[in-house]
Amino acid sequence: MAIIIKTREEIEIMRQAGHINALALEAMSRAVRPGITTKELDQIAEDVIRSHGAEPAFLNYPNSSFPGYPYPATITASINSELVHGIPSKRRLKRGDIISLDCGTIWKGFVGDSAITLPVGKVSPEAERLIEVTRQALYLAIDAARVGNRLGDISATIQEWVESQGFHVVREYTGHGVGRRMHEDPQIPNWGKHNRGVPLRPGMTFALEPMVTVGPPILYVKSDHWTVATRDGSLCAHFEHTIAVTDGEPEILTL
Ligand code: MG
Ligand code: MG
Repeated sequence: MAIIIKTREEIEIMRQAGHINALALEAMSRAVRPGITTKELDQIAEDVIRSHGAEPAFLNYPNSSFPGYPYPATITASINSELVHGIPSKRRLKRGDIISLDCGTIWKGFVGDSAITLPVGKVSPEAERLIEVTRQALYLAIDAARVGNRLGDISATIQEWVESQGFHVVREYTGHGVGRRMHEDPQIPNWGKHNRGVPLRPGMTFALEPMVTVGPPILYVKSDHWTVATRDGSLCAHFEHTIAVTDGEPEILTL
C-alpha cells in the first residue's frame, strides 16, 4: 500500500476541485423536491461542473464487477433502500423519500468527491434520525483524521458512533485515498479498531464516507449492474467529504 502525500500546491488544487463539487451538491440540494427526477438533478450537477471548466469524475468510471458497464452519469442518486451508485433516471422523487447524492469533480488533474443524504419534504422520524446519525458520523470521522491517530481510529470512531445509535455500518464499501485518481490507497473502512493501521501524516488526502443502514447491512447490486441497495429494503444513508490531514486541524476540501 502506498499512500500518496500531497504538496501544499496539490492540496490547493484539490480545494478548488472540492469547491466546484460542493457547488454542484448545493445546487442539487436546492432543487430536491417532490416531482423532480434524478436525471434532472444529474443535469444540474453536470452544468455546474462544466460551467467551471471542470469535468465529472464519475462519468465513464469503469465497473470493477461488470466490465463493459462504465458509469453513465455525473452523479449517483440513490433513493431510500438504495445506498450508493444509483443511476439517474426519469424516476420522480416523492414526499417522504430520502435521497443520497454523490458527486465527483476533476479539476486540473485532481478529484473532489463528496456526498449528502437529503429528505424529500417531510420524512419519517426514523429517516430523520438516520440522516442525522450518518452526518454526525462523518464529522466525528473528520475530527479523528489528525496526526497522532492511525487510520483505524477513523474507522473505529465511525463504527462506535453508528452502533451506539442502534444503526449498522456497511462493510463492502469504504472510504478511500483520493488525489489524481478518485480511488487511491488506503481503503478506509467504516468499521475497525483504534490504534491499528498506518499513522496519519500531513498531506494525506482522504474521502471519508460513512454508509449506514437501519436494518442488517446486507447489500445487493440491482440488474443495472450499478445500484447498490439493502437486501431487506430498509433505509440507508451516506455522507462524504474529501479532507486533508494537516499539521493542525483536519481540513475539509469539499466546501
Ligand atoms: Mg463519492
Ligand atoms: Mg468516495
